[in-house]
Amino acid sequence: MKKTIYPTTLFLVLFLFQSAHLNLEWGFFGHRLINRMAVFTLPPGMMIFYKKNIEYVSDHAVDPDKRRYATKHEAVRHYIDLDIWGEYPFENFPRTQIGALMKYTDVFVIDKQNDTTLVLGNELRIDEDKFFIKFRYQENKEVVIPKKKFQSFFYNNILAKYYDDVWELDLDSFQLYFDEFFPTSNGYKVIAEDKFSEYGVLPFHLMRMQNKLTKAFENKDAKSILRISADYGHYIGDAHVPLHTTENYNGQLTNQIGIHAFWESRIPELFAEEEYDFFVGKAEYVENKVDYFWDIILTSHQLVDSVLLIEADMVKAFPEDKQFCFDNRNDLTVRTQCRAFAEAYSDRMQGMVEERMTSSVYSLGSLWYTAWVDAGQPDLADLGNEELTEREKKELEELNNSVRSGDIKGREH
Ligand SMILES: [Zn+2]
Repeated sequence: MKKTIYPTTLFLVLFLFQSAHLNLEWGFFGHRLINRMAVFTLPPGMMIFYKKNIEYVSDHAVDPDKRRYATKHEAVRHYIDLDIWGEYPFENFPRTQIGALMKYTDVFVIDKQNDTTLVLGNELRIDEDKFFIKFRYQENKEVVIPKKKFQSFFYNNILAKYYDDVWELDLDSFQLYFDEFFPTSNGYKVIAEDKFSEYGVLPFHLMRMQNKLTKAFENKDAKSILRISADYGHYIGDAHVPLHTTENYNGQLTNQIGIHAFWESRIPELFAEEEYDFFVGKAEYVENKVDYFWDIILTSHQLVDSVLLIEADMVKAFPEDKQFCFDNRNDLTVRTQCRAFAEAYSDRMQGMVEERMTSSVYSLGSLWYTAWVDAGQPDLADLGNEELTEREKKELEELNNSVRSGDIKGREH
């Protein structure tokens, strides 16, 4: 028998489906839980402060998701499409932001006749060793640039001013560095274009968070410590999710749309509280931060195939009419994966979701702890219980309004 869907029902289902999508990425529930449980990994000297503020740290676990509605710079911090950059372990992809900028920034000179010439860029790079980088320049000329010089140009002119996808550089400083290689006397504009950030900057952003948190501890700035700790927890959680490391982040390339929320929201919501073991032990000091972030992300990425293949398999094997159910949430009916279906998928993944989630907790605690140690283990006992000021309340309200009214600037996951 053919089912007829009445327009009102369809509208309702679409509406509910959309609202169910509002809080993705470990879901609100998952992110909250990760931040909360990380507090219990901390040594007494930190615990005294974090426990007082445990509600703040958990409540603000999804602020970064909300910010995706307010600024286009936010979305790219939540993921990295590693598949764009070759094959595991992506050895040719730089591990640091400055490295990625040096490799994947195109610099153009636009002369007075309005001719545009690419003067620096990955596709012009011929060779590189410890001290020099060789570029192709104008058909068959070659230029060899000392790496130190190249690096200092990027530190002073690119990293310092880097904000948008395309930006204009100061002609004088370009000439100062490169005039002997690329004469620009008749050039009147130098333009730089970022060629990698759109594919995600998650690992680089983690390093930024680590540095910011360390600074906040050095300053014993209670509010910053809490705000950054909460944000940091969000990004660490995202880094543990396999689908945050791939172009096929919502199964859209393999006809598995919706798998993102299934894996990281639905499954934890059903099973985390009852079944997952969050006793992950004591936070430990992280010596090499960059390696540590990349380990997390590469481990996540290695799980991408299983996440996708097992689900595809399950959809085929499981009775079709038992895959989706209607569930009640805050007095709303939402269509979502049935418990038995979610359980079967989760079982086939052999504890993968639990492992990624509890690893998030452990990593987060360890990174908070590391920032505190690097800041000289400041005494936190006299830092208070942080309440929001009127201004902060207003800011939070504006953030919430932009979530309610707007679209995400950038991608959804
Ligand atoms: Zn996120």
